[in-house]
Amino acid sequence: MNTNDNRLKAHKLIDHIFQDLLPAHGMTQRPEQIQLSHRMLDAMQGGRIALCDAGTGIGKTYAYLAAATAASAFPTGQIVRPIIISTSSIALQNAVLTEYLPLLSCVLMADGILTKPLKAVIRKGKSHYVCDERLDRRLRQVYPAKKNPEALAALRTLKETLDMDGVSHLSGYDRERVCVPQVCDCKQRDCRYQRFLKTCDKGQFLFQICNHNLLVADAIHHSEGKRPIFPEHGIIIVDEAHKLPETAQQMLGVTLAAEEIRNLILQLKEERYLLAAEMLEDSTGPLLCKLAQSREEAEPVEACLRLLTAPSRTLPIIQRQIGSVLSPLGSCQLNTVLDAVKLFTSPQTDMIFY
Ligand code: SF4
Repeated sequence: MNTNDNRLKAHKLIDHIFQDLLPAHGMTQRPEQIQLSHRMLDAMQGGRIALCDAGTGIGKTYAYLAAATAASAFPTGQIVRPIIISTSSIALQNAVLTEYLPLLSCVLMADGILTKPLKAVIRKGKSHYVCDERLDRRLRQVYPAKKNPEALAALRTLKETLDMDGVSHLSGYDRERVCVPQVCDCKQRDCRYQRFLKTCDKGQFLFQICNHNLLVADAIHHSEGKRPIFPEHGIIIVDEAHKLPETAQQMLGVTLAAEEIRNLILQLKEERYLLAAEMLEDSTGPLLCKLAQSREEAEPVEACLRLLTAPSRTLPIIQRQIGSVLSPLGSCQLNTVLDAVKLFTSPQTDMIFY
């Protein structure tokens, strides 16, 4: 493999796609789209990050699909299969799978560049797939005469369908009972779900399409030393990337809200631990006042963090004194606030506080 030759060939393929092949199928030639695709390819070939802001109508989806196809057709050293595409909306995932890739495959095959269509799979979280073991159990439990016929038919359809999203009339109750569990605890290791995972690991799909949640979950698995969700890959395309911080915040963020502290104080009072409630009220009073300020008046986060010193001393005392005798709700509220306060007052260097 000559890396420089492949680099040039991949760029030429992009020009050919946008200047000849797609216009021959009625698509307008757009210089910004071609430029964008070349930039993306440069980043893919160089193992770098390209942060691209494409205006409406430029055709960013074809730009990255063409760049990724060219990068895989003419590899320059890094792992190119599979290419992960993460988007925020299901509509875009479906469009990539059923509209964009088939058309691109079609023009590339007609031109002799590809012999087979570009293969892609949509990857989802476990709760979207059927667990064979749980489905069998559920089907044994239901009384056909008592069950809504449409819901029963939907449940039976799952014998043939692994992904539950396309099955109409499936009740939320059934769905919850038959989805793949977080931890597989059966002896069977040759179920449809496990076979699907093996297929995804075998490298037969050039593209694996997911949402941002699954992408972040994969990063968490890596950081915690768990089995990765995706096979080893070298290229990630994050479409609708403006939604990624929100997802990361939901999945990785820790929040300490004034309401949680107030609820804990109320709970302590309700359970008649008045001294603990008073101690907490006194130590969190200045913080609650600060949090009640409007955003315009609010000071930098450091001002709030300083006010956590007093609660960081009080909360462990409350935990030691009454933690074991609190109700499950009170104990849960206390632990949540205590964990958040510990985190916010610890000298973490890999956290962003805001
Ligand atoms: S391995 Fe997991 S998904 Fe497969 S049947 Fe067992 S529990 Fe269900």
